[in-house]
Amino acid sequence: MFFRIWLNISFIPKTRISALCLLVMVMSVSCLNRKPGENPDKPAWVLVIHGGAGVIEKKDFKPGEEDEYKKILEDALNSGSQILKHGGTALDAVEVAVRILEDSPLFNAGKGAVFNADGVNELDAAIMDGSGLKAGSVAGLTTVKNPISAARAVMEHSEHVMLIGEGAEEFSRKQGLEMVPQDYFYTEKRWQQYLKAKKKSEEESHRMGTVGAVALDMKGHLAAATSTGGMTFKKYGRVGDVPVIGAGTYANDSTCAVSATGHGEYFIRNVVAHSVSAMMELKNYSLEEAATYMIQTKLKNQGGRGGLIAVDKNGNFSMPFNTSGMFRGYVIPGKVPVTLVFGNEEN
Ligand code: ASP
Repeated sequence: MFFRIWLNISFIPKTRISALCLLVMVMSVSCLNRKPGENPDKPAWVLVIHGGAGVIEKKDFKPGEEDEYKKILEDALNSGSQILKHGGTALDAVEVAVRILEDSPLFNAGKGAVFNADGVNELDAAIMDGSGLKAGSVAGLTTVKNPISAARAVMEHSEHVMLIGEGAEEFSRKQGLEMVPQDYFYTEKRWQQYLKAKKKSEEESHRMGTVGAVALDMKGHLAAATSTGGMTFKKYGRVGDVPVIGAGTYANDSTCAVSATGHGEYFIRNVVAHSVSAMMELKNYSLEEAATYMIQTKLKNQGGRGGLIAVDKNGNFSMPFNTSGMFRGYVIPGKVPVTLVFGNEEN
């Protein structure tokens, strides 16, 4: 056997052998340099979505309920990926995906938004375009059907980044966005959660659930979008991390796009989404290292519960969470969409 190999090699000219050795060395060095979670083959485009992190356990689901959630996640992935596979922008893909999640009563955003302490639905959203660091966000909306489109309108048709309350409503109306009566956001499930929260202490009333999408398009542009009803029984005009650029939403073509979900106050204080980007840019962390550190070490050590989804400029993506579950999914070229709900399923 050894003799046969030697015979074969002995016929290859010496220069070819040295070239071969050099190639093997270069390949092994580049493998060693690859960071955990890094994808060797850059996909042409990537779409990752989430539908909120929190106490999400199999035992709490009625028969068929898990499939209902997965069906909407799949719809969002399919619609967003149609755009990306035809050469559309990451920005369009994340907006479309988030609109689908907003229109579902299942998630805490748009139609399914939770109630605040006054029994009103107040919605927050943000969108960011990684090319040129353009961003738009809205907070405290009460009659805009799709807050993510209001955030995009702020980014594209105003000289500002963040609009709140009455002004944001007026701007949305003037932009021709679809407005709905406040009772459009009424769902029995959220109302029952509100009544339950009302009876309990403020501490116990923290409920999570938010929707978001991040994408890389064929031109190498990144985008992130996040939309939420905030936390059940929130008070005094509370605004969470979602519309705060750099906290719950961030995108930068030179690093990554991030959309977060969880206890917003912790995400604001730790500037989570921007920190992931900064660790990559300044500390040479991989996306997986940076995202995992922020969720599993930094936030966890402080008692901050939640997760995030992120994609980097090379098509690597990460979906860490420190809760029992996070509705999430992704799609890449040539593969069917993958949707997940609980921990230890695929991460
Ligand atoms: N992060 C959102 C907020 O604090 C809530 C969530 O993600 O569930 O408003």
